[in-house]
Amino acid sequence: MTAKKKDIRALTKEQLRDFFVENGDKAFRGNQVYEWLWHKAAHSFNDMTSLSKATRQMLDDNFVINHIEVDTMQRSNDGTIKNAIKLHDGLIVESVLIPTETRTTACVSSQVGCSLDCKFCATARLKRMRNLNADEIYDQVVAIDKQSRLYHNHKLSNIVFMGMGEPLMNYNNVIKAIDKITSPEGLGMAARRITVSTSGVPKIIKKMADDEVRFNLAVSLHSAIEEVRTSIMPFNATFPLKDLREALEYWYEKTKRKVTYEYVVWNGINDRKEDINALVEFCKYIPCKVNLIEYNPIDDGEFQQASERAINNYISNLEMNDIVVNVRRSRGKDIDAACGQLANKS
Ligand code: SF4
Repeated sequence: MTAKKKDIRALTKEQLRDFFVENGDKAFRGNQVYEWLWHKAAHSFNDMTSLSKATRQMLDDNFVINHIEVDTMQRSNDGTIKNAIKLHDGLIVESVLIPTETRTTACVSSQVGCSLDCKFCATARLKRMRNLNADEIYDQVVAIDKQSRLYHNHKLSNIVFMGMGEPLMNYNNVIKAIDKITSPEGLGMAARRITVSTSGVPKIIKKMADDEVRFNLAVSLHSAIEEVRTSIMPFNATFPLKDLREALEYWYEKTKRKVTYEYVVWNGINDRKEDINALVEFCKYIPCKVNLIEYNPIDDGEFQQASERAINNYISNLEMNDIVVNVRRSRGKDIDAACGQLANKS
């Protein structure tokens, strides 16, 4: 039986250099292959046209390049593109290209399904099957960058980790992918254009601060009242708000960078005066801004968007307390590409 070939993108540049030296070639060849794999995002050894045929064959004899494929692509009336992405083992995740007047943003997935169980989220209905590797995250960005250039005539400008999965439950691979995305040897994007959005895993938020990461942090808060948050995000019983608050204070102390709170207002769930007051108080702990996100019901159950009046109450109370608040309209609703709707329906 032939041994299973190794995925070449699991190798570091040094390991690639060693491979060529061990096989009687120059270490420099490893640099060339590394550039093909990451900067040029080659998905086949045959595409590596600066290498001799013999070198390409040697690579093919020893390695595979596990890569993603865009399985299906849906385009919304508003220009949003939702991709069903097929992984090398046949599993599917979704990634979205969101265009606005001034930018194009990739919303990428970090897990197949999700480890958490937010009651309002379509992804939560798919159990977590596995974490994505760093190259699978990287490939989503490459694919969406291509679509941005093709359909919007400019390169991708921003990335948000708000697709399927909880990125901090797959921290190592997310960090590896971001290293490649920001490295000049990869895509060379600025870290400040990347936002990792978490439901709030206190231990990892502190680790991110210790690791001196350069990207932005967003937290899906949705309630600043312990019982309400636990009822809609049950893992809050394990990672309560007081621990989240402490981790965010640690983050700010170390990084001096603002946090964005993502917040949806639902009818009868968090649209009372006391919900608003609790959010205002939570916002006073560290410098922050609030994104009020329009909700897209995943069914006709208990989670329905709150009234305009309730949302306006939030806005006026936050503004009265000098807290920056933006209202985020959802995009791609007609193709189920909006926040909380990614559920592999296709
Ligand atoms: S909202 Fe995010 S963390 Fe919560 S279940 Fe959905 S994908 Fe997971």
